[in-house]
Amino acid sequence: MRTPIIAGNWKMHKTVNEALDYFASFKGAAKEGVEIVLCVPFPALYPLAKEAKGTGIGIGAQNMHFEEAGAFTGEVSPGMLTSLGVEYVILGHSERRTLFGETDEAVNQKVQAAVKHGLTPIICVGETLEEREEDRTREIVRDQVVKAISGFRSEEVKKMVLAYEPVWAIGSGKASTAEDAQEVIQFIRNVVADQYDQQVANEIRIQYGGSVKPNNIDSFLAQPDIDGALVGGASLDPESFGQLVAAA
Ligand code: 13P
Repeated sequence: MRTPIIAGNWKMHKTVNEALDYFASFKGAAKEGVEIVLCVPFPALYPLAKEAKGTGIGIGAQNMHFEEAGAFTGEVSPGMLTSLGVEYVILGHSERRTLFGETDEAVNQKVQAAVKHGLTPIICVGETLEEREEDRTREIVRDQVVKAISGFRSEEVKKMVLAYEPVWAIGSGKASTAEDAQEVIQFIRNVVADQYDQQVANEIRIQYGGSVKPNNIDSFLAQPDIDGALVGGASLDPESFGQLVAAA
């Protein structure tokens, strides 16, 4: 049985004080049997990781560099994250890929660095609207998954989290249908089985992301291959994120 994982991606929202206020009202939402993660901007990581200790809520970053240290102005290393009590990191989000030029190769290097430091990577993949209309969804998603997870041991891959986030569904209010998301996520699971083996594919968790809201989350979670959600907008309000957790 795979444990459902509900993760919020705040993107570039909330000051430290706003983050602490949010956490004070959200922490009661922790639920047995559901893994809950808040992926927050760098400045809020340390204060929230301190608050989150012992609450059953994990704290994640939204990006990191793959090097240990060096002349990389503006970057944050994996060891810096773990030193704060951070346990997760979103890698390869479509906004990183399109706005900041992150390549599949860089995503793979970041996944390697995350695994080395014991961080759980939440690896995002997904096609653009144009790619979907050209019927290239499977090809795009396959390529992103294969490159991101290549070069690991089975034991390492099992502990990773994948997130299928069709780019056209992100922040658009137009979520995928649960059936379409299930189909792509089942396909991704088969790709993992091809690259590793069926046991790894059975154990790795795969989330859906893209306009997940309290009124549609049930339909996604009812699908056999969808193990949770990666949530942007609806994670910014503690009450609505609490409703998403309650649905899992
Ligand atoms: P929305 O939930 O706002 O569509 O964002 C999804 C997302 O990008 C999460 O990483």
